[in-house]
Amino acid sequence: MSAPIIQGWCPGALRPMQSGDGLVVRVRAPLSRLAQDKAAQIADLAQIYGNGLIDISNRANLQIRGVTDATHAPLIDGLRMLGMIDRDIATETRRNIVLTPYWTAGDDSHRIATALMLALSSDNAPATPGKFGYAVDCGDTPVMTDISADIRIERCQNGLIVRADTCDMGIPVTVDSAAETALEIARWFLTSGGAPDGRGRMSRHLKTTELPAEYRTAPAEPAQHTPQIGRTTNGTLVGLEFGQMQAQTLAALAKPAPIRLTPWRMLLLENLTTVPEIDGLITDPTDPRLNVVACTGAPGCPQALSDTRTLARQLAPHTAHLLHVSGCAKGCAHPSAAPFTLTATAPDTFDLIHNGTASANSFATGLASDALIRHPDLLTTKRA
Ligand code: SF4
Repeated sequence: MSAPIIQGWCPGALRPMQSGDGLVVRVRAPLSRLAQDKAAQIADLAQIYGNGLIDISNRANLQIRGVTDATHAPLIDGLRMLGMIDRDIATETRRNIVLTPYWTAGDDSHRIATALMLALSSDNAPATPGKFGYAVDCGDTPVMTDISADIRIERCQNGLIVRADTCDMGIPVTVDSAAETALEIARWFLTSGGAPDGRGRMSRHLKTTELPAEYRTAPAEPAQHTPQIGRTTNGTLVGLEFGQMQAQTLAALAKPAPIRLTPWRMLLLENLTTVPEIDGLITDPTDPRLNVVACTGAPGCPQALSDTRTLARQLAPHTAHLLHVSGCAKGCAHPSAAPFTLTATAPDTFDLIHNGTASANSFATGLASDALIRHPDLLTTKRA
């Protein structure tokens, strides 16, 4: 098995990434929100210039798949008209913000994310690496502590803090000072050697470099959140199989309500209390497909050693705990540990990992897809 290629950057719209089914164009919608007219037009663009498949990423971005070298420029022109495109690649790379989907207009999360977006658009904003990002999570309690981010702006017991990822202490801030403090910590990350060769993440950096004491004076709120399909305080959450939909589904969703993209690869339909029947949506919180995550796999990803989604679909009804099926050890679909992970090592052959990431030590090796489908108990039991 060859090691997966680490690109060190995420695809953007201006710098798309080549995949097995064409270019992947990642759109960072401001505030992760699509007004109805914009959602409908993005659905049209995905059909005209892509292959009609749209992903939601685990950073609450939208990915238009199957774009070609010839269709990339007209797609960007269309997205620019919708206000979805930054002025250059450097700005697009820096503007990497994931915002709690439960924000309301004018609340702390909304105001801070807006200020941070503006600050990151400035020419003197810190030129952080492509995967480096910010989480703005200032509702009553944090809901995105599990979501990948390098600098977190969160609610704590006594107000708001900004903290470096993996540090359980942060620096107290106000709504007005939060964005600038986040940028100050980003500058410290760069000047203290966090991104040698233009790559790096905060969690890795803090393993070898001590965060200055002034950035860790107030405790973070220990919080965990499991999103539930159904009604929320500001709308209704719906799921998508593997976080992917057809452009027609997005077009249909655009009719009843504005859409928020969530880092759980679900959609939040703003202020909607009942969801119309739309093909491709998961609206039942007990749907077994909510128990599985699977990356693009073969043939969509050139690094994939196997198809992933067929197996994930077949095993979904047989697991009560989260199962991650990964086409290689990179684990793009679920970078953190899962109760069960199947990592492809060859076509239709997987290693099984318990309570780990896709690259962690295996509980069992060389499991064939058809054996797993016939004997799903292999997920929990080693056979002699
Ligand atoms: S984890 Fe999946 S999507 Fe990511 S590189 Fe490997 S095969 Fe491709």
